[in-house]
Amino acid sequence: MKDVSRRGFLAGAMASGALAAAALSGCSPSTSGSSSTEQAAEETSSLVSDGYYVREDLNALSMAPEGEVAYEDGAISDDEVVEEIECDLLIFGAGPAGLSAAASASENGLNVVLLEKGAAISAHATQLGNYNSRFLTEADHAIDPTEVIYAARIASQYRCNEEIWRTYIERSGEATEWLEDTIIKGELGEVIPGEPERIVDGLRWSGSYIMWGGGAAGYTEAYNMVQDFCLSNGVDLRFETPGVQLIQDENGAIVGGYGKSADGYIKITASKGVLLATGSYEYNPEMMEKCVRPRDRMAWAWCNPATTDTGDGHLMGLAVGAGMDDYPHPVMVDNSGAKDGSFYSVALFPTMRVNDAGKRFTNIGIPFNFLANSIQYQRGGHDFCLMDGKMHETAAALLGPAVAAFDIDEVCEKFVNSSVECQTIAELAEAIGCDEATLQDTIDEWNAACEAGEDVKFQTPKDYLIKLDTPPYYAMEESGAFLATVGGLTVNEHSEVLDRNGNPIPGLYASGNVSGSMFYDTYPHQISGVSTGRCLTFGYILGRRLAGVE
Ligand SMILES: Cc1cc2nc3c(=O)[nH]c(=O)nc-3n(C[C@H](O)[C@H](O)[C@H](O)COP(=O)(O)OP(=O)(O)OC[C@H]3O[C@@H](n4cnc5c(N)ncnc54)[C@H](O)[C@@H]3O)c2cc1C
Repeated sequence: MKDVSRRGFLAGAMASGALAAAALSGCSPSTSGSSSTEQAAEETSSLVSDGYYVREDLNALSMAPEGEVAYEDGAISDDEVVEEIECDLLIFGAGPAGLSAAASASENGLNVVLLEKGAAISAHATQLGNYNSRFLTEADHAIDPTEVIYAARIASQYRCNEEIWRTYIERSGEATEWLEDTIIKGELGEVIPGEPERIVDGLRWSGSYIMWGGGAAGYTEAYNMVQDFCLSNGVDLRFETPGVQLIQDENGAIVGGYGKSADGYIKITASKGVLLATGSYEYNPEMMEKCVRPRDRMAWAWCNPATTDTGDGHLMGLAVGAGMDDYPHPVMVDNSGAKDGSFYSVALFPTMRVNDAGKRFTNIGIPFNFLANSIQYQRGGHDFCLMDGKMHETAAALLGPAVAAFDIDEVCEKFVNSSVECQTIAELAEAIGCDEATLQDTIDEWNAACEAGEDVKFQTPKDYLIKLDTPPYYAMEESGAFLATVGGLTVNEHSEVLDRNGNPIPGLYASGNVSGSMFYDTYPHQISGVSTGRCLTFGYILGRRLAGVE
């Protein structure tokens, strides 16, 4: 058995959903080594003592690295303020949510200040979700809105604000056309429609998204163009200047906020209010412990490059009386998070998998979030993704038409680098730590299903049934690849933040991953691209509403 060295992150432009963006940016490995093990041990035992029941210790997995929270709860006095600004709309966060709103508001004449904590904008995705834009209807991907509402209800287990979903379904096509027609203007080439719908385990997995050429690179470029559009409309965009606190008047309305530059505090008054667009909070361990189920917050790969996402907007909202989604918050997680923190396209696709008992455990052709959940449900929160000497052919077959966007040699090389290479099934069993006879039975059963063209036990789709029969064999130990938390402040369909009685807090808005009220339990990957789609759609609508054009 050869222990292949573990190194490197995926690089290069790849076009597959979350993977592609991760490939460009690299995922952060979890804190590793003995200190992380100790930390994780402390973590799980404190959970038990805090009163949460957990099925087992997940000491092999870890929390995300810790980012720096910018939210401040202490009073800021006028003597500490180095600059004062007046504007119509103040936005915290220059990700897809904040930039979309800034573009729409400034296009319609509002004077916008946009503060960003990091050194650059955040735009990490491939698929932009939308319904019935002309890019989809012309490709025969028109969808009946009622079908989507059914899917949303079931995905959220009826724990969502349906008005938000309805607005998303009705307006996302229009918002997408606005983005392309007003800002992109064909400069990124022809818009690429998503794939046709698939039915898996009875679930409708929709292809209701668009992409630009280059996959993740195309999406980032689209938002670079949104940034340029904002600047050309006079948006005052400042990097490395986090929002730290909201300003609330004596009636409870939000009338502005404080930012913090290298020189000191900036006091900004905003006549139309403040939009929180500060993203998720996985880099804030305290919030993760309070909001996310123990098993969901442990992973190996942390894929959001914006380590500035520490829940600042959540905390600012809570400080002024906002409501927030109930515990436990939903998270967006894919499979394919290798133990060294990398995130692999080959493994993201449905290659054969076994748990540490050497047994198969689910249909591997399901949407990524469900496969990740199933992997994390296994003992130890992990599994082993298996490949053999036909890896290049298998990867190409599983990628299907998307193969054109991948460098298969590179993808396979990276996979090999995070795997253990074995010449025999006995060695493979040893690498996994399971009983050899059990693993042999599992592989025999899989190969028989491949030959028969039907997986009677787990219903794996026929085109994914590829035999494991050619040494050398590879085992990549895998857990979740964490993309973002998607629970947040309670909002309505106008992006107004609601207080704990369900009433809007005047002047306060939230959009993107800082906002809640849409998902429950797990991010619904089968409703493709809704994460990016909601950022664009609600930003577009909010800008227009505040400018009075609707
Ligand atoms: C690798 C990867 C691939 C993905 N692929 C897809 C996909 O294909 N389709 C899809 O729908 N979704 C995808 N997602 C999810 C999607 O990218 C996010 O959900 C979406 O970008 C969220 O946008 P946002 O604006 O809410 O947050 P973010 O993009 O996280 O932006 C928030 C911004 O706010 C800034 N900020 C934080 N705190 C402050 C503060 N105090 N003051 C000022 N600024 C602050 C941050 O620095 C950041 O720039 C992917 C996610 C990842 C990580």
